Amino acid sequence: MLYASVALDIPTRAIDGTFDYAIPEDLTKEVQVGATVLVPFSRRLAIGYVLGVSTEPSEGLDPSKILPISQPLAPSAFGPKSAAVARWMAREYACPLCEAVRPFLAPGQKLRVTRASEDSPWELAGERAGAIDARWAMLGPAADGFAPAKNASRQREVIEALRQGPMRLAELSATIPGASSAVKALEKRGVVTVEARRQLRGVNESTTLSSAAAPRPERLTEGQLSALAAIDEARGRAEGDVVLVDGVTGSGKTEVYLDAIERTLADGRGALVLVPEISLTAQTVGRFRSRFGDDVAVLHSRLSTGERFDQWDLVRRGQVHVVVGARSALFAPLANVGLIIIDEEHESSYKQDSSPRYHARDVAARMAREWGAALVLGSATPSLESLYRCELGQWRGVRWTRVSMPERPGSSVLPEVQIVDMAAQFRGGGRSVFSAPLKDALLDVAKRREKAVLLLNRRGFATFLMCRECGCVPECPHCSTALTYHERTHSLMCHSCGRSWPVRAYPDPSTRCPNCGSRYMAAYGVGTQRVEDELRMLLPEDVEVIRMDADTTRTKGAHQRLLEQFDAAECAVLVGTQMIAKGLDFPEVTLVGVINADTMLKLPDFRAAERTYDLLEQVSGRAGRGERPGKVIVQSYWASHPAIQAVVGHHREAFLQPELAERKEAGYPPFSRLANVLVWGRDGAGVRAVSAQMADALRARVEGQAGWEVLGPADCVKARVKDRYRRHVMVKAPLDADLGGIVGECAASVGARKGINMALDIDAYDLM
Ligand code: ADP
Ligand code: ZN
Ligand code: ZN
Repeated sequence: MLYASVALDIPTRAIDGTFDYAIPEDLTKEVQVGATVLVPFSRRLAIGYVLGVSTEPSEGLDPSKILPISQPLAPSAFGPKSAAVARWMAREYACPLCEAVRPFLAPGQKLRVTRASEDSPWELAGERAGAIDARWAMLGPAADGFAPAKNASRQREVIEALRQGPMRLAELSATIPGASSAVKALEKRGVVTVEARRQLRGVNESTTLSSAAAPRPERLTEGQLSALAAIDEARGRAEGDVVLVDGVTGSGKTEVYLDAIERTLADGRGALVLVPEISLTAQTVGRFRSRFGDDVAVLHSRLSTGERFDQWDLVRRGQVHVVVGARSALFAPLANVGLIIIDEEHESSYKQDSSPRYHARDVAARMAREWGAALVLGSATPSLESLYRCELGQWRGVRWTRVSMPERPGSSVLPEVQIVDMAAQFRGGGRSVFSAPLKDALLDVAKRREKAVLLLNRRGFATFLMCRECGCVPECPHCSTALTYHERTHSLMCHSCGRSWPVRAYPDPSTRCPNCGSRYMAAYGVGTQRVEDELRMLLPEDVEVIRMDADTTRTKGAHQRLLEQFDAAECAVLVGTQMIAKGLDFPEVTLVGVINADTMLKLPDFRAAERTYDLLEQVSGRAGRGERPGKVIVQSYWASHPAIQAVVGHHREAFLQPELAERKEAGYPPFSRLANVLVWGRDGAGVRAVSAQMADALRARVEGQAGWEVLGPADCVKARVKDRYRRHVMVKAPLDADLGGIVGECAASVGARKGINMALDIDAYDLM
């Protein structure tokens, strides 16, 4: 008899771990690790996932009392190694086991069962959308010279559409109403043929962007060679070693990844490559496709569920060996993983903001250990966590090594960076969003017929007050974090300790800067639209202005179209939010301007300075990637801040040293671990009560233990969202602490309360 350990899909902290079920003789082939099954549970049926199969039941269980699995629901989606990782995630991130398993399931797999009638078997709701053979229409032998009748406009539209290439019938009908009867008529005449094909959705992404097909360089740089050597060594040791490729923007990190993957494939193993969602453009994908062709599966959130399923299924069938994708691609069912790459590893989007609240870097490290693979982290601005682990030389039992690539290949050099003090501009009478130096530089670009990129930092928009004359932002005297401004209540608030002060902003006559006495204390922020308008007024008409923000990129493919437009233009300025800062590689860009460098700097978040530095260094890297040297102009109200100053001369140490000293002093990561417990709900009193209970439970549990500290409860920066009150408790813990385990236990002891939600965010990134 075989027994399965099954994680039930009942997401509550009350049901934890796996339960044993017997596998009926006739189901042993279908019920393997990774399968979804239906099982009886407390007199009803439940969906569960098989995490283990063995010949003996768990210790202490009487085999005669073990219930059998009722029926299989979905074939295996993952193997024993992934099951081990899921179990680890559940504890590490304090989430129910089933939530840690879900990322490993097939895209679109539903968590509900239905059945056609009383006697038919149960099946997963909506599963039929999985692998299906679709019917495709294409032009047939009689298409040439065929002219549809005058009144047959549908037929004309269908033929027109098919001239671009074969299309799925479903897609044709979606775009041309009534297409199916037109296709039938045309099929009879041999103008159109229809055939069933294995459906493979969303693989024909293409782009006209020149840099997508960069040829293999003739010679690798010193830095690239040493990075590859370190990666080879890590792969050879096969113990999950981590290599941090610390390479300036444009130093050729992608080239290193491509070669490392090639070597991994030659060993008969596969590679997972994660890039931030935002830089997962046709440009990036193109570079992997041009090297590995059809051996690449691509996974990201802009694909439909069906498209994602197809890519995922290719991986599961072992038909491709390289997976390129955003965060969740980490869970793709790749067999024999030999290499995991995380590009732009400092990106906070690698942290998932819903359960399971995992960080891809840490899960990848765990997976690499499980597989005996190497983990490669790449960035021009590595996270302080990764730098610190490399400094230590090892972390959680594996080696961490840093290799630096300080130079760009060939004649391309890092751009010169100029900081403009905006408070001084204001005092000199400047009221435009562009300082005098930035105006001059933009006009120069127009005159020389070149290209510029302008970044408008939208994070932290208008949440604090700032003096326009001296740049002062009021801080909490007790916590030294910036106070956030709440317009509705006219108050300044501290989100660490919960204190607040009444205040009115400019133009209220009572307002005064606590530092210089100026009356220009105002909420801070400008919009992309305003920048675009001022830009059009400033520049001659023959300069194209392209705006890229949440508004202009809402439709599918818009992001790429705008980039292609910018690429094709002779002389243009691209204005955009954070989404333009990464990955773009346009050799003709000679100027990068940052309108407002410091909107994030004063957010009540200990990573504010790190994020500001990262963004500035990354966006500076967009300039001067070609023959002509680049220039970067950064407008700032805190020109002397180390995070801003370090970008001048690309001198990271100038930022790192004071920053690390501060973090150490305050006991923040990378010197500690930090969890954020978020409590929210419509009932404000209930939220207060539960957050207080949780803080009490945590204090009682860790009181007096070295390195532990419980902060709060306090209102969140976003104290109310969609009529829900939000409060939080923060927990600092020593590096080797079982933080997830302990926070999870405390949450379980507090228990659930109707209408009140609690999220446990271990190693939190979002503290707002
Ligand atoms: P990163 O990922 O570090 O920003 P890329 O890999 O995109 O850098 O490389 C930047 C540019 O330099 C690309 O156009 C790439 O084709 C080119 N490049 C990379 N390595 C070399 C090399 N060894 N010799 C010449 N050009 C190279
Ligand atoms: Zn405070
Ligand atoms: Zn002032």
